Amino acid sequence: MNIQWYPGHMAKSRRQLQEDLRIVDVIAELVDARVPGASRNPDFDLLFSGKERVVLLNKADLADPAETRRWVRCFESAGTICVPVDATRKDAASIAVESIAKAASARVEKMKTRGISKVVRAMIVGIPNVGKSTLVNRISGSRRAAVGDRPGVTRSKQWVRISPYLEICDTPGLLWPKLEDQASARMLAFIGSVRDEIMPVEELASELLSLLVRIAPQAIYKRYPSFAEAPAEEIGLELLARSRGCVRSGDMPDTERAAALLLDEFRGGRIGRITIESAPDPGERI
Ligand code: GDP
Repeated sequence: MNIQWYPGHMAKSRRQLQEDLRIVDVIAELVDARVPGASRNPDFDLLFSGKERVVLLNKADLADPAETRRWVRCFESAGTICVPVDATRKDAASIAVESIAKAASARVEKMKTRGISKVVRAMIVGIPNVGKSTLVNRISGSRRAAVGDRPGVTRSKQWVRISPYLEICDTPGLLWPKLEDQASARMLAFIGSVRDEIMPVEELASELLSLLVRIAPQAIYKRYPSFAEAPAEEIGLELLARSRGCVRSGDMPDTERAAALLLDEFRGGRIGRITIESAPDPGERI
């Protein structure tokens, strides 16, 4: 399986982001807590240089809490503020805003002491499907008074006022996934950050199933009890199709439906809280 993506789309995202970054001081990078390394990209270190950074491990409700704690330590030991978030919860806005305010505090203090009226601006960025819109809506919903359009900024952008010195953009920045590295691309496809229409879905689901049997056998056997009794070589989409009643005419297992079901259940956290990318050892490059 070789995962590709559209260079045209990527070029457009890059141009838009570069333009947005000119007016932003603090970057809150939203990553998926189940694949925190793969949902980042080495390009970003260069793009974000000179800006304060925060990493928000979103969808923490779907990830293994012990692994999430290891990832937080890992980012923090590299000097980056990092917090777990579940953007579907009400408290996500305050958790995210607090960490952004912390990252912005040195700049804000500098402005206050100099009596400068310029505001510090923050933007939430991330690759597709990590929960950017959900989080941004929570933040702007919790602070009704958006401050309105700014001259020189795309008209559709609004800034949500956090304090007299800090504003957060209510339009998230779109980053491009790290697809040159096939191991990362696969993990992103598992969580749904690469559009399924361009993926061989059955192959993808089979690979995910093998991975889950290896890293989270208990969760898999609990969700799909027929796997617990089957010989290892029979564990696959055909068995899943049969055990879930996905059959076509002629009693043929509908492996396409079984593939969609597995991906759906994994992505929705119904198999369990599973982190598929383990945190590197402290000191190792993220
Ligand atoms: P975006 O493409 O980054 O803007 O992602 P969206 O905000 O559209 O979210 C993608 C999907 O993930 C939606 O179905 C959200 O409801 C879901 N989602 C977002 N954040 C979370 C989270 O923290 N936990 C869970 N379980 N689902 C989330």
